[in-house]
Amino acid sequence: MTAELIFVGTELLLGDILNTNAQYLSQQLAALGVSVLHQSVVGDNAERLADALRLALSRSDLVLTTGGLGPTKDDLTKEVAAEVCGLELALHEESLSAMKSFFAAKGVQMPQSNEKQAYLPKGAVIFRNTNGTAPGCAMETGGKWILILPGPPREMKAMFRLSALPFLRRFSDSVLVSRTVRTFGIGESAMAERVSDLLDLENPTVAPYAKSGEALLRVTAKAETAEKAEALIAPVLQQIDARLHDVIYGVDVGSIEEAAVALLKEKKLTVATAESATAGLVAKRLTDLPGTSEVFHCGIVSYSDDIKARLLGVDETTLQTQTAVCEDVAVQMALGALRQSGAHLAVSITGLAGPGRDELGRDAGLAYIAMTDGETLWKNKITTGHTEGDCRDYNRTVFASRVLFEIYRYAAAYPRKAAFGSPLNESLRKERTK
Ligand code: ATP
Ligand code: MG
Repeated sequence: MTAELIFVGTELLLGDILNTNAQYLSQQLAALGVSVLHQSVVGDNAERLADALRLALSRSDLVLTTGGLGPTKDDLTKEVAAEVCGLELALHEESLSAMKSFFAAKGVQMPQSNEKQAYLPKGAVIFRNTNGTAPGCAMETGGKWILILPGPPREMKAMFRLSALPFLRRFSDSVLVSRTVRTFGIGESAMAERVSDLLDLENPTVAPYAKSGEALLRVTAKAETAEKAEALIAPVLQQIDARLHDVIYGVDVGSIEEAAVALLKEKKLTVATAESATAGLVAKRLTDLPGTSEVFHCGIVSYSDDIKARLLGVDETTLQTQTAVCEDVAVQMALGALRQSGAHLAVSITGLAGPGRDELGRDAGLAYIAMTDGETLWKNKITTGHTEGDCRDYNRTVFASRVLFEIYRYAAAYPRKAAFGSPLNESLRKERTK
């Protein structure tokens, strides 16, 4: 089963709105096992839309459109699609009364212009709009189908889920199941190299891709049922885990912070942060998730040298001689955060988000991270390689992701602390309690 998507709207062509319907429908159809072979965008123009529909019908089994179902003159998708299919429009009473109730529920009378939306192609399968007025529908021509859906994503998604999806299931003899393996701290090509033989598999397929400084692997299987697809995927996931275990933080998890928080909860650990370069981004990402109060103790945004010294006890001479961006400062910030908070674990980050160089001539993208639980200490230096232009956002995201990944690794190893950091030496222990 092949499909083609057509998105109608001049505002899409002008770049005024982002075509989020494209992503949603592509994902949904992929999950159904329908291959989307082409996507296009057409302005609100009858002739060009008719051309696009004819071309799509000539090469795909199924055509889906969104947009242009409104009550105004420039909304013409349904009219054009009906004409291309050789179907007449007729008043669909049920849709008309549904629309009237929709307005009545808001306490207003239906404008006359909306009546146009209740005229639908004869013989079409009608899709109700539970979040708006315009119904959608599926119309047949020569054994092929055109499905028309409204433009507003809220209306389109509800209609797809409630009506179009059940309608399409009858055409699909297979399902696609995907699992996404998420890694951190390895580049896309280095990751792909470690699993290079798996990239040639046909079912499931294994595909690498990069997103926000992370490398991901998507494993997709096609089978008659979801269970059969899962069974094809399972051994491949095991192989991937065996080769990438050190960098994987989850399969089908939303983000590193989600994986970290889940483990902190499971192991009943609390964490405190002391952030300089990321200025609270780690704390923000941890608390983006509901229910984080169980595990997140506090976040200290120690941006100036003065507050690093006064609040966290960072040594002023170190700050003067080595600047705030150095390993010693990171370590002292983590120790200070642990002391101030009483959390199980404290993490710190100090770095250069950029762009450009610091007074010592060091490039942006450099950061020092430290983490301590009072017994062990872990520290690391990272460089992102992004030094110029609009690198700032990227660097801060990657810095924060690295901290979150280390929290995840600590929690994953807990209580085997030796597997993580090195023991805190005597002088640092004193520092911790001073
Ligand atoms: P309406 O009844 O609101 O006129 P419609 O079905 O005629 O709905 P359009 O007029 O094409 O749809 O688009 C209405 C609004 O829906 C757009 O202004 C835009 O905000 C959103 N929209 C339309 N198409 C898309 C798309 N492909 N991706 C994301 N949003 C879209
Ligand atoms: Mg419209």
